[in-house]
Amino acid sequence: MSKESWLKRIGNEMLDLVYPPGLYCICCGKITDDSRTYRLCNDCMRSMNWNTGRRCKKCGRPLVDTDPGEMCFGCSQRDASGHQPSFDKGHACAGYGACAQSVIFALKYGGRSDIGDTLGEILYDFMLSGYEADELAGMYDVVTPVPVHADKLKKRGFNHAELIGRGFAKRACLCFDPGLLIRTRGTVPMKGLGPEERRANIRGAFEIRNSRHPKIKGSRILLIDDIFTTGSTVDEIASVLKCHGAARVDFLAFAAAGNMVI
Ligand SMILES: [Zn+2]
Ligand SMILES: [Zn+2]
Repeated sequence: MSKESWLKRIGNEMLDLVYPPGLYCICCGKITDDSRTYRLCNDCMRSMNWNTGRRCKKCGRPLVDTDPGEMCFGCSQRDASGHQPSFDKGHACAGYGACAQSVIFALKYGGRSDIGDTLGEILYDFMLSGYEADELAGMYDVVTPVPVHADKLKKRGFNHAELIGRGFAKRACLCFDPGLLIRTRGTVPMKGLGPEERRANIRGAFEIRNSRHPKIKGSRILLIDDIFTTGSTVDEIASVLKCHGAARVDFLAFAAAGNMVI
């Protein structure tokens, strides 16, 4: 462990002494108690835009009233443009609103790494709403997080998607490998970029770690991330994995943001 991440860890431990993580709502920070489901207070539990209604059958994001069919605008546009996404199916537990944003920001930027495990629990319960526990345990050969670039990892001290994925995989009794993929370079923010520009921005940003190459052929892989936005990232990773023979690549995110064309 580097000196920097060690100091960060001690800092987080000290923070836990002042603000015991179980006592505060992970969304609004109000005092609650650790018996609360997902450590959310009543208000935040109600305000979270849980993905319980109609969902896109491809990417899993919540459908809106203007989506007449079984797919979101983005997925149906992709079909029309001829670009076929490389991933097979997506799942998201909530729509990306103010509540989901607060929780994700607390995890990523607020020193609340403990939230990763709680999000893992939410992901697991969400999957159990569609599959039996035994079925889920046999669905994937490996669960892996979307990797962050080494510079970001150094700054933050952890990969938030890895914490979420670990929490999910241990409950789902699935094999978890946080080192399957490497992010070879950073990318510019996707906001404001068109579909082609987004694909170009992320192209070549991920590689499979050399030692994992033999494991990919024929594998069913589940990618984990905090938020699914344009889908370009999971699409790119899925394409790399499929090029190396992966049989199936799905993704599971805590939140899905608005409707965009990949
Ligand atoms: Zn709250
Ligand atoms: Zn979709």
